[in-house]
Amino acid sequence: MQCPVCGNDCVSQAGDLIATLPDVFSGCSSCRATVLDKSRPPPAGPPAEPCECQKRFIDQVFSHLYTILVEEGKFTGKEPLGAVGIPLIHPGFFMNSPPFLPPGSLVLVTRVADTKIAARMEKEVPEIRGVVGGGNFVPGVADPERTQTPRTYTLLAGCDVRADVFRTTAGPVVTYKQQSRIHIEFPREFNPKIANVEERIRAARPEVFVDASSGVGTLGLTAGRMKVPHLIFNDIWYAAAFWTAFNLSVNKEFLDLDEIRILKHYEAIEKTPVLDGPEKIAEATGKQVVEVYQGDYALLPKVVPEGRVLTVLDLFEKQDRVRVDRALQRWKEHASGEVFIP
Ligand SMILES: [Zn+2]
Ligand SMILES: [Zn+2]
Repeated sequence: MQCPVCGNDCVSQAGDLIATLPDVFSGCSSCRATVLDKSRPPPAGPPAEPCECQKRFIDQVFSHLYTILVEEGKFTGKEPLGAVGIPLIHPGFFMNSPPFLPPGSLVLVTRVADTKIAARMEKEVPEIRGVVGGGNFVPGVADPERTQTPRTYTLLAGCDVRADVFRTTAGPVVTYKQQSRIHIEFPREFNPKIANVEERIRAARPEVFVDASSGVGTLGLTAGRMKVPHLIFNDIWYAAAFWTAFNLSVNKEFLDLDEIRILKHYEAIEKTPVLDGPEKIAEATGKQVVEVYQGDYALLPKVVPEGRVLTVLDLFEKQDRVRVDRALQRWKEHASGEVFIP
């Protein structure tokens, strides 16, 4: 599949990606896992080269990145290895041990590289897929009152599109995302939100499942795998709505869909990062029906049909009990069916 960010063939259908998981990060018999202390500088000397199988242990890859930062004058050599940045591997899934990285499997989120250094990292470190300039904030809409303009990280080199694979009882769900635009999440062995969604669907047997603040679509896709007939996704942030629509195509083989129509392409949707909506950006038909909207979830009830509806409201500000209760109350007043916080 063509990647909407870099234009290359850097994204795969869910099934193809899942087929790689059993050994994508396993080393061969010649691979060596030398675990390094992240709170100290790496040992002096040149970093280990990738193995003949082309993989290299993640800590050695980080040593290599560290060496570049020292050579470029960003590091003195006294910084801890962990200061290089946050590793986001592709594909991300729950693992019991640290990975041996194949080429193009690492998106680095860092606060220390600039464009020039990032370009060098991409050129000289084969495991790098993309380098993202990060910051001390969550990319996208973090503030529901929208008093602050949403901020994003910066893609410095390569491509920052990567996927996470989440286990559900009905089988895995693959969600691609552009990492400079979407908040970071790490797949865990047990995902309480997914379990909660599954439980609610089993109990309510809804005709319509609404993922009202969908992010890149993980919870709604979980409902899709459980064959809920009608799915409605929505997110106010353009990148979330866009990747939700994209992820429908990626997971198409798990859904009963004949055709997916993208009504607003990346270049168009990027021009309205946040809008009231709901504006439909994609739809799909078949045995299942899917609609994807961009907009404020508070206005979404307009497009939610009557009947056996189950809505999940996955809000960022979950700890703020008053705000959450108000959101639930407001939803109940305007839309039919049940609503819950996962
Ligand atoms: Zn790409
Ligand atoms: Zn090897």
